[in-house]
Parts: sequence; C-alpha cells; structure tokens
Amino acid sequence: MAKHIFITGGVVSGLGKGITGSSLGVLLKNSGLKIFMQKFDPYLNIDPGTINPIEHGEVYVTDDGGETDLDLGHYERFIDVNLSKNSSTSAGRIYYEALEKERNGKYGGKTVQVIPHITEEIKQRIYKAELESQADVIITEVGGTVGDIESQPFLEALRQVRMERGKDNVMFVHVALLPYLKVSGEFKTKPIQHSVKELLNLGIQPDVIIARSEMEFDQKLKDKISLLCSIPVENVIECPDSDSIYKVPLVIEKWNLHKIAAEQLKLKLDNTNLEDWKKLVSNIEESKDVLTVHIVGKYVELSDAYLSVMESLKFAGYEIKKKIKFNWVNARKLTRENLESELSGAKGILVPGGFGEDGVEGKILAAEFARVNNIPYLGICLGMQIACIEFARNVLNLKDAHTTEINPNTKNPIIDIMEGKNTENIGGTLRLGRYVTSLKSGTLASELYNGDTAIERHRHRYEFNNDFRKIFEENGMVFSGIYTEKDLVEIIEYPKNEFFIAAQYHPEFTSRPNKPNPLFMGFVNAINKR
Ligand code: GLN
Repeated sequence: MAKHIFITGGVVSGLGKGITGSSLGVLLKNSGLKIFMQKFDPYLNIDPGTINPIEHGEVYVTDDGGETDLDLGHYERFIDVNLSKNSSTSAGRIYYEALEKERNGKYGGKTVQVIPHITEEIKQRIYKAELESQADVIITEVGGTVGDIESQPFLEALRQVRMERGKDNVMFVHVALLPYLKVSGEFKTKPIQHSVKELLNLGIQPDVIIARSEMEFDQKLKDKISLLCSIPVENVIECPDSDSIYKVPLVIEKWNLHKIAAEQLKLKLDNTNLEDWKKLVSNIEESKDVLTVHIVGKYVELSDAYLSVMESLKFAGYEIKKKIKFNWVNARKLTRENLESELSGAKGILVPGGFGEDGVEGKILAAEFARVNNIPYLGICLGMQIACIEFARNVLNLKDAHTTEINPNTKNPIIDIMEGKNTENIGGTLRLGRYVTSLKSGTLASELYNGDTAIERHRHRYEFNNDFRKIFEENGMVFSGIYTEKDLVEIIEYPKNEFFIAAQYHPEFTSRPNKPNPLFMGFVNAINKR
C-alpha cells in the first residue's frame, strides 16, 4: 500500500504547488523511495488537449499519449520518471466517466450524486494509481485554490482517503501565500489562516504549511502561523521566491520537508543524495554568458504555451554554462517586409509546434530566412512541416505547396493525412505518444542521438507526404529519421547548412535537467559555435 501526500493550494493560484510537490518528490526519490505523481484539475474539459494554450499553457504529452496539464512536465523533469495518462485527471473526465456508467445502467437505479458517486470515482483513481505505479509514495496535487466550488468534490474525496487510511499513511501539505505589505513593511498571516479555515470547514487539518513569500521571514512569524493554524512549528516551512525553480528542492531540504514526511508516514529514508541537483544548480549559477534564441511562434503573449521548449533550451544551455535568452517573434506579424529587421542578427531560429492557419506564413518565412542565411534552425512538429513547405515552394519551385490542414485543395500537398487516420474529430484523432524513430547512419540526427534510434513523443495529425520524398532528396534534403513500421518521415535535415534539422515529434518532452534532449543540445551547441 502506497503512502499519500496531498498538495493543496491556498489564497491564490500560481504559487508553484506543482514545483513544491515535485521538489518534495525529488527529496524522497533521492532518499531511495519510488515516487509517482498525479494531478487533479477542477475544470470541466475532458482533457487539456482542446484548450487554447494562451489560456492554459502548453499541452504536455506523456509516453502513452496522454494530453495532459503542463504541471506533469514539471513532475517528469523533477522526479525523472515517465508518467502516464492516469497522472492527470480533470473534473470533466470524472463526470464523463460517471455519466457514462449512469447511461449504461451501472448504478442500478440509484440517484447519482456528487457524494458519494463522484467522490467514489475520484477515490478509485487514487487507489488505481497505487496499483499501477507500485510506488512507495504518491504525491497528488489538486489544481486551483481551496475554497473554489469546483475543487470541493476532490477535497472531500481526499478527506475520505485520509479517514480510510489514517494519518500514518496520508499527509496534507498546504501551499499558501504569505503576502508582504510594503506600505507597512510587514508580512500578513491572515490569508493563510483563512485558507486553513476553509480546509478545516471541509474536514481537513493540514499537516504542513508551505508559506510562499516574496522573501525570507523570521521565526516569530512561523510561531504565529503554527499557533493559529494548529501546526507544529517545524512543519511551517518557508519557501521564498527563487530565481530558478530548480533551486526549490535544495530550499525545502534545508527545512527537512522530506524528513517531516517520512516521520509522519513512517517511511525509512536512505541518505539523501542531491549531488545531481547541486551540480545543476551550480551550472545554473555559473551560466552567466547569454545565448539568444529566436522563437517564432504564435502564442508569444504567454510563454507557458512553450514551457517545455524553454526548459529544454535552458537545460542545454546549462550544460555549456550558458544562459538562454528568448527572443520571441510573433509569427502572425512576420511579413516579407519586416523579416530582415525581425530576424537579422538571429543566432538560432526555432519554430515550435502549432495548429491551424494563424501565423503559418510567418513561420514559413522564418524557415526560409534560416535556410538561406545558414542560421541554425530547429523545427518542431509544425516547425518541420513548414520547413518542408518552404523548401518545396522556394527550392523545388512548387509555388502552391502547402499542408492540407490549411489548403485542402493544393496541387502540392507536401504535408497531408497519411494512411489510417481521419480528420473528423478534433479531440482524439492525433498521432499521440511514444514512437520509435530509426535513424539513418552518417546523418546529423544519428550523430546527435549517438545511435540508430530515437524514442520520442508525438502530437500531430498530418505527416510528410511520401510522394514528394524523391524530389526532396534529389535537391539535397535528407530524411534522417523514419518511423519504419508505417514508413513515416520523422526527421528532416539539410546538410548544406551548418545546422538545419526538424522533427515531426516533440523532443521537448524528454529533456531532463542534466540530460537535455539531443536535438536541443545540438541546436544550442550550434548557436554557441557561431
Ligand atoms: N498541426 C500540425 C499537425 O496536426 C502540427 C501539430 C503540432 O505542431 N503539434 O500535424
């Protein structure tokens, strides 16, 4: 039977509950325990696959093809395990499954209610995770803030789990804002007290409070929070803002959060080995020189939309002690007229994934600019597709070349739906998750991956159209990665340039601290060389 740590949030959202939970995961994992993480989100979408990235940040894709919340990316990057579809559950999914059961007569004529039926569904998810993960500790984060109407069924289910399993097996960690009032020059504990009261109303006494503040605070304040929230003073942990999220495990180690958890949950810890984290943090600190990457995307208003891409670039930068600066270029506004002024001086151009027509012509111009001026280029998913369209239009002179996603009537459908897929339904018809790419020997791809395969995650509907392979190859494009089973193009490269490579998959989902994905490492090295 696994032990459970439930992470709730108080006062405001956006405090980094995910980072805190992941950091605790890091400490426990590096003390010899097997960790699994999951997230419950109170929204009603069945999954985040169809939510606009501007609203909700990127869709993070798991090995098994789950389209999940971006917090799962943090979990994977921190605790370095591959999670699954089951690690992310929205209220929508819970209701959907309960209503499906209702339609199929599974409730035997009972009135279906939030309590007990929805809470039971939630509990089943938690217990199922125990079986599937075989973990020693499961860390579950509840999205949103305590007091939200939507999150109540989740909190009620967690309360019941604590009742069923007892305090030795279930711990509540409440991450809440401790605001600092500049006018009076003091911290205010009242919001934390109120949010703990909300929890108590739901029958939950938190065991640990993580006070998120702008800066460090003193013991007196901890005593006060302890007294007013009925929490042992050593369980009041301070977690001030940090200039890098990767420093947080070291911060909470200082306050022994892992030991507090181990004591309550009766877990045996080995010596905590944080050498890798210390190395990462010292690399971060030594990364002073700046390398600039131009990212040509369409969601540049919210960088969370490209979170994993950014983290992947940073990890690659840290390896060579370089700090990555992101130069966001709005693809929607890129035209032949302003192309030069927007991109001249670019040392590396990255075109990330995307869906739909918006910004596509701008991205095509960016790929052309990179190819013609021999600027290192990394294309991801749509970024590969547009590089192919650009090549077809400008090198092969197929002027109307396009993807059928945008122009279904083009005479030159360079990117098209390939065999065995349909276009009917926007949720659920993508090629999703982990596939094996075979790498052609002697290519840049095989050099970067240092081998003959790449196992990477996908999320797309369209593919390179094999009818055009020959003419591309005759003109210098190399198809260096193929999904052999279905003969689909996975990687293209253009060896005439110093570094021009693009993948149909999303390499950003397998980058880890101290282990950047090879494509990002190659790209950052190429920029550095310039
Ligand atoms: N829109 C493209 C497709 O569906 C690319 C998707 C992506 O970049 N993730 O194939």
